[in-house]
Amino acid sequence: MAALALGAGLIGAATLGAQDAIETLPVKGQVSMVAGAGGNVTVLDGPQGVLLVDAGRQGMSDALLAGVRRITTRPIHFLLNTTGDMDHVGGNLEVGKAGRPAPGSNQAASPNTPIYAHENVLNRMSLGKGGDPMLEIGYWPTVTFFTAKRTLYFNNEPIELIWQKAAHTDGDLLIFFRLSDVVSAGDVLNTTSFPVIDLTHGGSIQGEIDALNRIIDITVPRLNQMDGTRVIPGHGRICNEADVVEYRDMVTIIRDRVKTLADQGKSLEDVVAARPAYEYEPLYGTDKAWTTRQFVEAVYRSLKPAERTSRQ
Ligand SMILES: [Zn+2]
Repeated sequence: MAALALGAGLIGAATLGAQDAIETLPVKGQVSMVAGAGGNVTVLDGPQGVLLVDAGRQGMSDALLAGVRRITTRPIHFLLNTTGDMDHVGGNLEVGKAGRPAPGSNQAASPNTPIYAHENVLNRMSLGKGGDPMLEIGYWPTVTFFTAKRTLYFNNEPIELIWQKAAHTDGDLLIFFRLSDVVSAGDVLNTTSFPVIDLTHGGSIQGEIDALNRIIDITVPRLNQMDGTRVIPGHGRICNEADVVEYRDMVTIIRDRVKTLADQGKSLEDVVAARPAYEYEPLYGTDKAWTTRQFVEAVYRSLKPAERTSRQ
């Protein structure tokens, strides 16, 4: 602690506090994780350099990069965004500036790390879609695509960027590291809360369930439903397939209950009062930024889009 305080003398107390909150964890193969800078940040480290999935919040970049440097000192050559949320793209500018394109790549002429994302993330950030603040251009993704999948090959690792068209938002990517056997799931999977179905940004309950099923398609358990493929959630702890199955089942059960009540003509208030997420509330309902009520309401409005505007 004394050595840390001494070394951090010039950085100041606020930054020191931020760095204290950062946690680095090995995941599997060439993949590690940095937690505490916003959304979880996935770190692929190999002989060719570093690829990061997500960049944390604005103002956390120094702490995040210090965390990455605890894992590796190799140059950062790629940054991928799983969503356009500020806790995942807020560090794009600083993290982008901290690295540089891979030698010989298409982007080699640029001074900064290329930022990959789905086109809908760029639209959201550049046009302020859904009422978002328009971040300056340095935060925007520099390489976008609109197809179902894009691939990269880096550090002997085949990497799949798999678009989920309407899950948490309309721009979610699952990042599958095929050699290391790791999926970075972004906010499709949050072990600390119910999934955030962001209707304003194109999310839907059916797309969320589809995305969880897509993860389960990819994952292979090693023995007794344990070990095997690792899944890094947007927030919370590292998972295996059984964890994702349990989460998918929870979301599906709540969806079915809400649907049954909605099909009976129940109002949103009736559905909320029926507590369709009752037994899951202690586990997932404690997040003040995404409460049980917000989740149930999002499921209801996702199932009954005509009532999104007619009811409050
Ligand atoms: Zn998030």
